[in-house]
Amino acid sequence: MKAQTPMLQQYFSIREQHPGVLLAMRVGDFYEFYGEDAETAAAAAELTLTGREDGSNGRISMAGVPFHAVEKFLARLVGKGYRVALCDQLEDPKKAKGLVRRGITRVLTPGTLMEDSMLSATQNNFLAAVGVHERRLGLATLDPSTGEFQATEFNGEAAAERLAQELARLRPAELLVPEGWEPLPGFEGARTEVPSPRLERAEEALRLHFQVSSLRGFGCEDRPAAILGAASILAYAQRNHLPLEHARSMGTYSVEQFMALDPSTRRSLELSANLSDGSRRYTLLDVLDLTVTPMGARRLRRWIEQPLLTPGPIRERQEAVARLTEHAMIRGDLREALKGLSDLERLVSRAAANLAGPRDLAALRESLRAQPAIEEPLRKLGEGRLRTLLDAMGDHTQLGETLARALVDEPPHTAREGGVIRAGHDEELDRLRDLQKNGKAYLAGLERDERERTGIGTLKVGFNSVFGYFLEVSKREIARVPEDYIRKQTTANAERYITAALKEHESMILGAEEKAQAIEAALFQRLREEVASHASPLLETARAVAEVDTLASLAEVAVRRRYVRPEILEEADMLEVEGGRHPVVEASTVHFVPNDTALGDPTRVMVITGPNMSGKSTYLRQNALIALLAQIGSFVPADRCRLGLCDRIFARIGAKDELALGQSTFMVEMLESAHILNHATERSLVVLDEVGRGTSTYDGLAIAWAMTEHLAEIGAKTLFATHYHQLNALADQISSVGNFRVSVEEIGEQIVWTHRVLPGGTDRSYGIHVARMAGVPAPVLDRAGEILAELEGKEASPQAVAPPKQQVQMSLFEAEEPAVVKELKGLDVNRLTPMEALSLLDSWKRKHAKEIG
Ligand code: ADP
Repeated sequence: MKAQTPMLQQYFSIREQHPGVLLAMRVGDFYEFYGEDAETAAAAAELTLTGREDGSNGRISMAGVPFHAVEKFLARLVGKGYRVALCDQLEDPKKAKGLVRRGITRVLTPGTLMEDSMLSATQNNFLAAVGVHERRLGLATLDPSTGEFQATEFNGEAAAERLAQELARLRPAELLVPEGWEPLPGFEGARTEVPSPRLERAEEALRLHFQVSSLRGFGCEDRPAAILGAASILAYAQRNHLPLEHARSMGTYSVEQFMALDPSTRRSLELSANLSDGSRRYTLLDVLDLTVTPMGARRLRRWIEQPLLTPGPIRERQEAVARLTEHAMIRGDLREALKGLSDLERLVSRAAANLAGPRDLAALRESLRAQPAIEEPLRKLGEGRLRTLLDAMGDHTQLGETLARALVDEPPHTAREGGVIRAGHDEELDRLRDLQKNGKAYLAGLERDERERTGIGTLKVGFNSVFGYFLEVSKREIARVPEDYIRKQTTANAERYITAALKEHESMILGAEEKAQAIEAALFQRLREEVASHASPLLETARAVAEVDTLASLAEVAVRRRYVRPEILEEADMLEVEGGRHPVVEASTVHFVPNDTALGDPTRVMVITGPNMSGKSTYLRQNALIALLAQIGSFVPADRCRLGLCDRIFARIGAKDELALGQSTFMVEMLESAHILNHATERSLVVLDEVGRGTSTYDGLAIAWAMTEHLAEIGAKTLFATHYHQLNALADQISSVGNFRVSVEEIGEQIVWTHRVLPGGTDRSYGIHVARMAGVPAPVLDRAGEILAELEGKEASPQAVAPPKQQVQMSLFEAEEPAVVKELKGLDVNRLTPMEALSLLDSWKRKHAKEIG
């Protein structure tokens, strides 16, 4: 079917050139979709579907959105994974001869958004691209809303894995991959295939965009895969009309600068998403985030997800946090002043992209006005990192003054209707505005004068868009209408006239209005350009502010929650914590029980046993989080802490309900454990919770045992929580393994969780204790004790379960055994309720009545 109406022909011909998008075309005050796009958009964004006649084609579907509400609908469409192209009028419809020229001005995709209403304030929205060059993999990332542009490259065997880790950290909204490139396991965001440029072409494109003759300044000249990734981003931006005026430089980084955190570790530690519903509640980020600007919030998130590896920069941050904690008043002033800042990064980026509205510029003006109040307290603290940040703030007084002079106090949302530029800023504009005002005053006077002259009491001056200003006289009084009135229109009750004098003033008023609007639009555009021309230094200010806010937030948390500064040791390889707490659990618990940790010499591996719910995984996480906090430069929840830096932190801690998921969970658990065993070094911190739980008892025990042995051999600082008390025997065999338990106390008939981690193994007859408390008769308990002793003596003695490594004898696990023993083996006593224990014992007793006698 070919469209017949010229405008629809225009629509469909543009549509044809852009496959894979929904096309929204500006028609008057609306953006409209036609045909299939209308149907799709209507269904996805809850728009009303209507129709429009198209000659002999009959009615075709149509859906429209008023232009001022378009963002909301675009957000819905992009949120559902659609790509939407905006087709705008390229000339003034009033001046157009025939059909208005139209063309695509922007394509919105998940990774190319710039509007606040479509973005989360506290999170970056990255467009990422993979570059492939021989065996190298590159990754470039750009946040169009903030102008941050970065690239990195991975080489060697682990390249794909490091790439996956970076993607897990950055979680890009959209990933560009070379055509035909195999799918990346584990990446769930939007993927777009793009043609891969040739390397020389890519380099040239980058040099052109950054206006440099060599890429050396960006540190990527010998990173071809990174260059290819970055070039893909530039090409994609160009194709989608995404302006990158504000992304005029690019940083090349090496992942080696930061601690690698694999996806399972991020998840286990609940850094920015919790395990139960994936939200930010009850996460480290949630507790730590007392930032007051969106830029600070985004920066803090990045710090948490990218711990550092070298003492220098960590100490620099610590020093700044320390100064801020010591000076409560100054910190208070600083944080108060920071509240006066809007999202500078995004405001400036929008200005550079020609997308900023009057309110954006007004917000920028207010932010610049607040800048001295931020600098003042910094100057008082001014040393080290804080001093550097102060110096990076730059001086924008002049721009601030320009904005203050030019913009009215509270400008309207768009510049279209005028009312944006302050009186006194531009002479011509003032003159035109006077003319308008005088003209209106003239009309009011005219009404009065004409009533007097003609004696027509009902005479009124009115306006309509067809023939402009008129004089209206009600039908009853038309007899008095004078000669010089020219009749223009008849309505039900009145006649409308014009006069020569009226028309003369009309053209003056309307001309003035139109001219004033044009001048305002031009002045506003000039302001926006002025801001855009300062984009780089403004973005630098924004980034310095982000860091100041982040440091101040870390200090505020440290004070409110009584964190201490950890001592970073140069050589020693240890983690020593006194009175350590779990930052998140302590925030929602009335009486959190602090615990100590000493990993290093002599104990490098702590085997931690204890019943369910005693606090094992909390203890594990708290230690990993303390190490992580220390390596982002934060203070830590403890009374005292000393640590040698970790090269990596590995955590594998399941969600509480994971067990119910069965076999497939076991596979995942083993994959993640394998990863840890393959990558941990003696400088790593490893926390493992209940490994081997998802399989049969002996399997699980054997695996847990062997893993602990292996980690002890590597020498990694390890916390291993387990319900297999048999593992306690390892401590006798390996000197660096120590036994610990999370104690529980019996008070009367009650079990009390003390949550205290104490040296020593677990009381093995814990299940029998519980049975006793439940009132199981003494003979049964005695018999259970005997059976247990026999089992342990015969098969489950440490030596029997795991002889020294050289002489493993699998046959030990395979002895013929009575049914009750089999049942006992399959039993996790820690998971039994007292009532279950009771009825089980009762059933055994009845089943084995004969043997028992
Ligand atoms: P486990 O891993 O041994 O099953 P968890 O670490 O999940 O136990 O802890 C169970 C609950 O006990 C937690 O939800 C927490 O509320 C509480 N808890 C754990 N450790 C402590 C502690 N040190 N102080 C206070 N409450 C704690």
